[in-house]
Amino acid sequence: MKIKNVNEIDITGKKVLIRCDLNVPIKNGIIQSDARILASLPTIELALRKKAKVIIMSHLGRPKNECYEKKYSLLPIFEYFKKKINYTKVYFSNDFSNILPIKTGELLILENVRFNSGELKNDEILSKKYSNLCDIFIMDAFGSAHRKQASTYGIGKFVNIACAGLLFMSEINNLKKALKNPKRPMVSIVGGAKVSTKFNILNKLCNISDTVVVGGGIANTFLAINYNIGKSLHEPTFISKAKTLINKYNNIIIPIDSRIGKNFSQNEPSIIKLPSKIQKNEEIMDFGDESIKKVVKIIEKAKTIIWNGPVGVFEFPNFRKGTETIAKAIANNTSFSIAGGGDTLSVIDMFSIKNKISYISTGGGAFLEFIEGKKLPAIHMLEKHFSH
Ligand code: AMP
Repeated sequence: MKIKNVNEIDITGKKVLIRCDLNVPIKNGIIQSDARILASLPTIELALRKKAKVIIMSHLGRPKNECYEKKYSLLPIFEYFKKKINYTKVYFSNDFSNILPIKTGELLILENVRFNSGELKNDEILSKKYSNLCDIFIMDAFGSAHRKQASTYGIGKFVNIACAGLLFMSEINNLKKALKNPKRPMVSIVGGAKVSTKFNILNKLCNISDTVVVGGGIANTFLAINYNIGKSLHEPTFISKAKTLINKYNNIIIPIDSRIGKNFSQNEPSIIKLPSKIQKNEEIMDFGDESIKKVVKIIEKAKTIIWNGPVGVFEFPNFRKGTETIAKAIANNTSFSIAGGGDTLSVIDMFSIKNKISYISTGGGAFLEFIEGKKLPAIHMLEKHFSH
């Protein structure tokens, strides 16, 4: 894989358009975690230091029908940047097709790209319009690198120069490090609710890891092979795939006991049960104590750890123990650990273990697809520019 990075290109005085991933959780206009913004800052600040005219764009959430929706506006992010980058002028534009010129060393933030008609469909006209905004396109949104959209991929066809930003390069280098000749034993932990997207990666993880621990809806789908798991979140269409994996690999760890509740709600009490004892009106929302003990022992011995997704509904205090204990076990292991995925970042924030994970990827889907060995569209686009 050969791609140019921003350090190899003279950007001084140039108009640079940086595609960031500023898709942070926002509630009532307040940013809940700035992890993704902080990860994007090195490239933005490098471009400002080098006296480029810096424009940044990002998506936020999933607005319907590519139309403006206040809750998905990047305005709170603009306010954040105004405070953070207080040494230069920071502007905001809600219409990318009608922006005022900025001076070198200044920053302009564009409104959510997903308000632009054609963004999701990778529309050529829109891609071309984006390319007209800049001399150089810097792709730094690793979290969106698996999307073939106008701002992540289509623009590449029309800009003269496209390169990767610092975050993008660091994501790729760290993921490669985890995947190429990892120290053994290597343990992968996959939890969360997006069962269908994550199932595809299990094959690859079973191949490259010594042990694969499954949690959340993925574990439930495995449990559903042999048990009636009541209302538990799982994906019935993937049960046969789970069966195939279990028959093919003997390194998949499925919970032996679980924390159960009757209602999916904040103060729901939890009880621990064996999977065979779950009733129709109950649902699995976390690991039980025996499963936690077993997984912690595996993590303690690991020399490489890949982690994506909480093993339970960590947002509810009574169903947090599995995710918390496992997260802390990963943090306490001083070997190489890599974690990724939106909700994994929230877990890391919640338990303040950021400094104890070797590398935290900002990618969710992109992180998974890279591990799976798929060629990410944004990488493909940057490779084409390398050979120009
Ligand atoms: P993901 O984005 O796929 O990493 O999913 C994260 C979400 O999975 C979190 O909001 C968790 O609450 C949720 N989750 C984890 N385990 C379960 C479970 N057993 N049942 C329902 N939701 C779960």
